Amino acid sequence: MYKKHNFGAGPCILPSSVMEQAAQSVINWNGMGLSILEVSHRSPEFEDVVLKTQLLVRGLLSVPDHYSVLFLQGGASTQFAMVPMNFLAAGKKASYLDTGYFAQKAIKEAKLFGDVEVVASSKDRNYAYIPGQFNIDPQSAYIHYTSNNTIEGTEIFDFSATGVPVICDMSSDIFSRKIDVSNFDLIYAGAQKNMGPAGMTLVIAKNEFLDRAKKEIPSMMDYQVFRDNMSMYNTPPVFSIYVAMLNLLWLKDQGGVSGIEQKNIEKAKLLYAEIDRNPLFYGTAEVEHRSRMNVTFLAVNKDAETQFLAFAANMGIVGIRGYRTVGGFRASLYNALPLSSVEVLVNAMVDFERIYSD
Ligand code: PLP
Repeated sequence: MYKKHNFGAGPCILPSSVMEQAAQSVINWNGMGLSILEVSHRSPEFEDVVLKTQLLVRGLLSVPDHYSVLFLQGGASTQFAMVPMNFLAAGKKASYLDTGYFAQKAIKEAKLFGDVEVVASSKDRNYAYIPGQFNIDPQSAYIHYTSNNTIEGTEIFDFSATGVPVICDMSSDIFSRKIDVSNFDLIYAGAQKNMGPAGMTLVIAKNEFLDRAKKEIPSMMDYQVFRDNMSMYNTPPVFSIYVAMLNLLWLKDQGGVSGIEQKNIEKAKLLYAEIDRNPLFYGTAEVEHRSRMNVTFLAVNKDAETQFLAFAANMGIVGIRGYRTVGGFRASLYNALPLSSVEVLVNAMVDFERIYSD
């Protein structure tokens, strides 16, 4: 079998048609007799790629005109620091919702720049839910959310109005479902789940909010510098941007974000139904906060865990071992994972139940 059923949480799950085009571009891009890896990022051909990729992002997410679309580097982890460096001044306060491992990392970085108020946390139950009720100080510089908690398998579906600027880490669910960009002042996402290869970070930000950023910050950490230089202040991650463009074209062919959202709902429904039916397994996240992208579940009997991993591996299923803080299994159902792979996993669970119970 050439292709495994890859349920890994990242990096870079892409459709095979995109992988094939990407492979070709490394050898001879656009018939230019050059690899995409050696073409100048200042060439009109590559500037065209950047422009097209930005337009695809705008089209697929219906980004309003008064927002900028930026391609940065350093992953979402750099955004954990870049956000407060730009928007949180000493003596001021920012609000954070603590929904898991990556939210905590964002909180840790923000504390280097000003006061951080954690408005609510689901740590008390190992982050198995999204806190519902909390107050946000109207004086806060912003509220920070993590829309999809990749490790804990929870997702925020309702972003209520808050009265302060809203910043959201959408690394693991951007492009998987419709969002209303105008509800956010700044969205960031490491590309490597649903957008393209690791190496680029997408930022979508309201211009008026960017205008308010602090001025005395290093150029590479300054959103305005990237906005003023068409995301090419320095050498951009050429290959990552190019492959993201190919992948977004693929997404457009799937009926765009609303088309893929329907498929993602179907995949998640199928797998959660089996987790709820099969007496050997149970889900870790509260039902109404279950993520469609990262499905976390445990085996009722601990000894069944290693056995199921081996059983599934025999069927070409890879990447389902859960993160150590949650344990058990995590099946990531990113855009490029076909429904047929979820069917293979569900069948493996059904077969395993029969064999294990004998
Ligand atoms: N935030 C979320 C929700 C993630 O899932 C990840 C990585 O998986 C990160 C942040 C960190 O991203 P990066 O590795 O691009 O720094």
